[in-house]
Amino acid sequence: MNYISTRDTDIRVTSSKAIAEGISSEGGLFVPESIPAVSPDEIKKMSEMDYIGRAENILGKYLTDFTAEELNKCVKGAYENAFSSRKVAPVITVKDNIHILELFKGPTCAFKDLALQILPRLLTVAGGKVAKGTEIVILVATSGDTGKAALEGFRDVENTRILVFYPSDGVSPMQKLQMCTQEGNNVAVSAINGNFDDAQNGVKRIFTDKAIAEKLRENGMAFSSANSINWGRLAPQIVYYFSAYCDLIADGKINCGDKINIVVPTGNFGNILAAYYAREMGLPVAKLICASNRNSVLTDFLTTGTYDRNRKFYTTISPSMDILISSNLERLLYSLAGSEKVREWMAELSKEGRYTVDGDTLAKIKEIFAAGWCDDDETKAAISELFREEGYLCDTHTGVAVRVYEKYRQETGDIAPTVIASTASPFKFSAAVLEAVEGKKSGLDEFDMVERLAEVTGLECPAPLAGLKSKKVRFDSCCEVSGMDNVVLDMLKIKRD
Ligand SMILES: *Cc1c(COP(=O)(O)O)cnc(C)c1O
Repeated sequence: MNYISTRDTDIRVTSSKAIAEGISSEGGLFVPESIPAVSPDEIKKMSEMDYIGRAENILGKYLTDFTAEELNKCVKGAYENAFSSRKVAPVITVKDNIHILELFKGPTCAFKDLALQILPRLLTVAGGKVAKGTEIVILVATSGDTGKAALEGFRDVENTRILVFYPSDGVSPMQKLQMCTQEGNNVAVSAINGNFDDAQNGVKRIFTDKAIAEKLRENGMAFSSANSINWGRLAPQIVYYFSAYCDLIADGKINCGDKINIVVPTGNFGNILAAYYAREMGLPVAKLICASNRNSVLTDFLTTGTYDRNRKFYTTISPSMDILISSNLERLLYSLAGSEKVREWMAELSKEGRYTVDGDTLAKIKEIFAAGWCDDDETKAAISELFREEGYLCDTHTGVAVRVYEKYRQETGDIAPTVIASTASPFKFSAAVLEAVEGKKSGLDEFDMVERLAEVTGLECPAPLAGLKSKKVRFDSCCEVSGMDNVVLDMLKIKRD
């Protein structure tokens, strides 16, 4: 299986190269040149396997230049011990036909662990094939969840280093503490004096700086990227949609072949795109339901065909979905309309900040996707109701998905079995979740809120979050945006000019 660029189908690379390079040189994203099929018989067989077996089977179809042994090592290393559930991504039934896929059992308690526990392993194998002996340097700009998940994934992975920049006032106290106490011999973290965009632009500038690249080369190093445009992050996410379906079969909740709906709280369109690929591969899915918060750019796009980022940006209680540019959407557009159209629309997006797809493409989108959004009050109401009525506590991002799904079900009358992706532990966003449950703001500090939430819900705070309180802060520096280059060079022990 080869990979081509969404903007130039003459560019054709192996899966190792697609993963090692992250993004295609002309700005397009790597996509598989064809979608491998999975038959109902195969799904039935997978329902008798554990998560590791399912992951090996699905990933093996995409990463064809990895040997079975290499893949087995990557998958086992990622999923055998690092997750607090033996099932890795367990499915919980909250009411008839409504199932929650819990994607937060990893070391950082958010769904990004599912991809970032395996990406470093895939990257080291891929790097060994493409550029043997080179040390891979990962730079990340983060608004919270990605940085921590990447740090945990890359810590002490041979032949890699990782450096994370975060906006000093742009992450939650819990997220900040998660990053500043990070352990590992190949990691570093720095705050920057600026917002998330400043951090991201700074990282992009360093990535494309020829002089810095040359310095790295002289020292046997090269930059690579761990963000969600890397195919090595997307492919592992396809696995858990198959796994959820297999669990529903194994538990007698559905019969193999029954169609389900999947609801995904969406930001960068990565998680839901993985569900789309699963559907294209043959997973019996009727509708993919895309849930947004008040930054409803995707709801508008999927319902009208016009993508318009010229709009107000809102800060919400589901911060990991506060995004106006959903990079991974480009892969869906390629799949539905081809590279010529993608080039046209992406050029319009960068020039005007908006584009409108043609009628055929919109019709295809509407056949596959439903979409909706809700605001913070509705999100809190959804969390509160689900807890009161079914005894299930969800986080704010999942709360958005729950509310959007309720509206969908009422409007359409569609009561097919449905899987809702749950993307974070409620304890990671204790302030808003506690407010939802108690009906008022608590005024407590972060760890007292965690304790209070455990008390009123009878649930236990996940160990990786509870343990933060006693951890030593290792990284407390803050740099100017203009000083980010030097922070990178110092971390790599490369001489400054
Ligand atoms: C990153 C994230 C999302 C959004 O996922 P995308 O793949 O960017 O759509 C949703 N919820 C949580 C908790 C996240 O960390």
